[in-house]
Amino acid sequence: MAPVKVQKICCIGAGYVGGPTCAVIALNCPDIQVTIVDLNQARIDAWNSKDFKLPIYEPGLEDVVRKARGRNLFFSTDVDKAINEADLIFVSVNTPTKKSGVGAGFAADLNYVELATRRIASVATSSKIVVEKSTVPCRTAESMRTILEANSKPNCHFDILSNPEFLAEGTAINDLLKPDRVLIGSLQTPEGIDACTALADVYANWVPKERILTVGLWSSELSKLAANAMLAQRISSINALSAICEATGANIDEVANAIGFDSRIGPKFLKASVGFGGSCFQKDILNLVYLSESLHLPEVAAYWRQVVDMNEYQKRRFAKTVVDTLFKTITGKRIAVLGFAFKADTGDTRESAAITLIKDFVAEKALVQIYDPKVEHEQIWLDLAEAIPGTPIEAIKKQVTICASPVEAASKAEAVVIATEWKEFKEIKWEDIYATMDKPAFVFDGRLLLDAEKLRKIGFHVTTIGRGAA
Ligand code: NAD
Repeated sequence: MAPVKVQKICCIGAGYVGGPTCAVIALNCPDIQVTIVDLNQARIDAWNSKDFKLPIYEPGLEDVVRKARGRNLFFSTDVDKAINEADLIFVSVNTPTKKSGVGAGFAADLNYVELATRRIASVATSSKIVVEKSTVPCRTAESMRTILEANSKPNCHFDILSNPEFLAEGTAINDLLKPDRVLIGSLQTPEGIDACTALADVYANWVPKERILTVGLWSSELSKLAANAMLAQRISSINALSAICEATGANIDEVANAIGFDSRIGPKFLKASVGFGGSCFQKDILNLVYLSESLHLPEVAAYWRQVVDMNEYQKRRFAKTVVDTLFKTITGKRIAVLGFAFKADTGDTRESAAITLIKDFVAEKALVQIYDPKVEHEQIWLDLAEAIPGTPIEAIKKQVTICASPVEAASKAEAVVIATEWKEFKEIKWEDIYATMDKPAFVFDGRLLLDAEKLRKIGFHVTTIGRGAA
């Protein structure tokens, strides 16, 4: 049997991955009809909104959606119809870390993947290529295949592919338009290889062929976990060095630059910070830890676990630096936290370092004044309610205010903490911030974003991650 020519794609999950990924496929493949479905009506309504108030913020996304929506790109809650019409289905649902039960805190919660897979099996009346887009533990495709085969109708055949997504939030559209690589894993059977070719042909509409890597299913699944683990490991490594810099007077920027000149190491992902966040790094490493433990490889599990532990340590270490510098108490003191998103150019707050910092400041009885240019206020309250369990939101609101500008956030504050590397924080008129603050006025740069010398000339006391006091 020759590879099918994909004509209709369904993507289950209209989130940070499913939405942008399939919008870019629709943009580059005008002959393919792409329908992105989700159970969340509000999310689909936002994707369909007349004024393009999309449910996620991502530079360049609106432009892509404007070009393709209504032409060959559709958003719907009619999951069954889209499944039935498609010849290729992406499963791009969330795979959070389990919060309770066996393996809690380590294992990926595959409930959404399983439900989506069962849905495909129960409604499909013709053969499909089913593509794991979600990040999943190694050999999840096997479970999906078992579910599909046990529940399918006669004459329905399912081929399973793994096609993990490597986009980074904040640069998703560029990453999708010019990917470093597209990875497709398949069973090495004639049917598996045909399915792989069918998906590769879709990407070949805009991705150079040499960047489309085809591998075995398990290698593909593991590669995604490994890539995120290696990226996070670099951050934890540079953060571990930042602690040594602070204690010795070495400068982490100089050290990172010196290391990065080595062509075997390279300069990327060597920026020290208050710690990594986002929905993926921690979750995927914990996944790898869980996988290693279930394979009876405790030393391997401990090795990767350390990357997450170092990240926690970095966040807590930074919060402690703030408290220690403010004369060892922040009770009743106002602290401006600039940035709530886990990184710049996204409104996503999942696992944001800002949440840990604010939680610690609240516990130390500070008054926290938050500003973020993109995060919805409601999201901030939801995150804080989750991070500070047992405290009614009204009580949290007595200590935390959300502000409309950096100057408002800094009003009467003793300290400004940079939690997210939004470019606009570099461009603030820091003299105005200084004027509105109590004195002495402190800045804690958790993102190595600001020109410390310039701030010192204004009058600020500046503490920067990874720079000794000297
Ligand atoms: P998300 O939470 O933003 O989106 C997932 C969507 O799936 C939600 O809108 C949810 O309502 C929907 N959904 C869940 N079950 C469904 C079902 N049965 N039918 C229809 N819709 C359903 O998640 P995300 O950030 O897009 O991540 C999706 C996957 O991609 C995860 O496995 C994640 O690890 C992986 N990933 C994420 C990123 C990232 O930067 N966010 C990058 C690479 C990979």
